Amino acid sequence: MKKAVVLGGGIGGVEAAIDLRKKQLDVELVSDRDYLFVYPLAIWIPTGERSFEKTSIRLADIARAHGFTLTIDDVTGISGAEKSFTLQEGGTRQDFDYLVVAIGAHKMPHKGKENVLSICGAPQESVRVKERLDELVAKGGGTIAVGFGGNPKDPSAVRGGPAFEFLFNVHHLLRKRGVRRNYSLTFFAPMPSPGVRMGEKAVTMMDRMLEDTCVRTYTGKKIKLFDEGGVVFEDDSRLDADLVMFIAAGNGHAVVKASDLPQNEAGFISISPSCEVQGHPWMYAVGDVAALEGPAWKAKQGHIAEVMARIAADDIARKETGVGQAESYVDHISILCVMDMGNEAGFIYRDKTRAFFMPMPVVGHWVKRSWGQYFKLRKLGKVPRLPGM
Ligand SMILES: Cc1cc2nc3c(=O)[nH]c(=O)nc-3n(C[C@H](O)[C@H](O)[C@H](O)COP(=O)(O)OP(=O)(O)OC[C@H]3O[C@@H](n4cnc5c(N)ncnc54)[C@H](O)[C@@H]3O)c2cc1C
Repeated sequence: MKKAVVLGGGIGGVEAAIDLRKKQLDVELVSDRDYLFVYPLAIWIPTGERSFEKTSIRLADIARAHGFTLTIDDVTGISGAEKSFTLQEGGTRQDFDYLVVAIGAHKMPHKGKENVLSICGAPQESVRVKERLDELVAKGGGTIAVGFGGNPKDPSAVRGGPAFEFLFNVHHLLRKRGVRRNYSLTFFAPMPSPGVRMGEKAVTMMDRMLEDTCVRTYTGKKIKLFDEGGVVFEDDSRLDADLVMFIAAGNGHAVVKASDLPQNEAGFISISPSCEVQGHPWMYAVGDVAALEGPAWKAKQGHIAEVMARIAADDIARKETGVGQAESYVDHISILCVMDMGNEAGFIYRDKTRAFFMPMPVVGHWVKRSWGQYFKLRKLGKVPRLPGM
């Protein structure tokens, strides 16, 4: 039986491990943490609607359900020339036929980033956002600024949706407590039209929702730095805030940047349409770690990471059996998001032929919660994969 090692136990890596097992390969998953953190559900940790534990799935349980082995260790190096990877504890390894790299992205550096918190950083940071929000709510009033940044070297690494979700959920929480008027909420981003990759209709709706929820906006100015009092922009204007939740754009993972792997200017791995790493037919890269090709509005998302994982597994099986046809992840590039607002949601979809925003009053919030339950059960092998999900 041929052996595949998957590096990274996030959404893309776990899906790759599951799919490679289905293709009858011997699979080992390597992760620096012992749980899969379901980032799309982390939007509810700060407002207390979901616990950290319920947002995580133990990798050991997933491994047992699907029959792959699990190694908890830190990947410190990957070499294309040597056909190897190096682990902090486990040393250099070459005992595999295929390698799937799924270690995600690092973040763009920002001056003073220690002064801000993010729901898109290390998983535990969401809990710190909750603690700071709780403190502010206990104080009875304050100012909250929420924003996201871009990566000029790879615009697909932007992550704006969770910033809007966080804002609307905080608005909803404060309103439920009857204290919304005591708080000023501001949204900031350096782009003149943030969220435009979701499509014009979504941007129009988003602007209307920000207005309806009395969220001030501060857009189109580059961020110079963050300090203890808030955000400073390139023209030295300031946005003062007691709490800043900021989502830095993705940037190439340090292990990839230090490697000999082909990569784009931002440090994301260059791949073929079937996710094969250029020049290395035994290596694949899936999810946020890879450089995406496709339309200008493409964005790194969890559902794309899963599609890439399935295509990579299919391609490996095709190489082994000579059966099947290579597929391209580019054909599947789309933006798909159920944007939660605390008590309702909006369904955002964009592909090469259409872009729309559909309001989902009340039911939308429960659709997203149900997706979370389905995702967990599916990863634990308790329900089959539904077509298209
Ligand atoms: C708050 C939030 C909300 C989101 N909402 C949505 C949404 O609604 N819909 C959607 O489609 N997408 C959403 N996304 C995006 C989605 O979560 C990501 O695109 C997805 O997680 C990417 O998966 P990945 O496996 O490539 O990377 P990751 O999920 O980042 O996983 C990388 C894994 O590699 C491990 N790792 C990293 N470095 C090392 C190392 N050196 N050694 C060993 N292991 C390592 C990490 O521990 C991690 O488990 C959201 C993201 C966030 C943060």
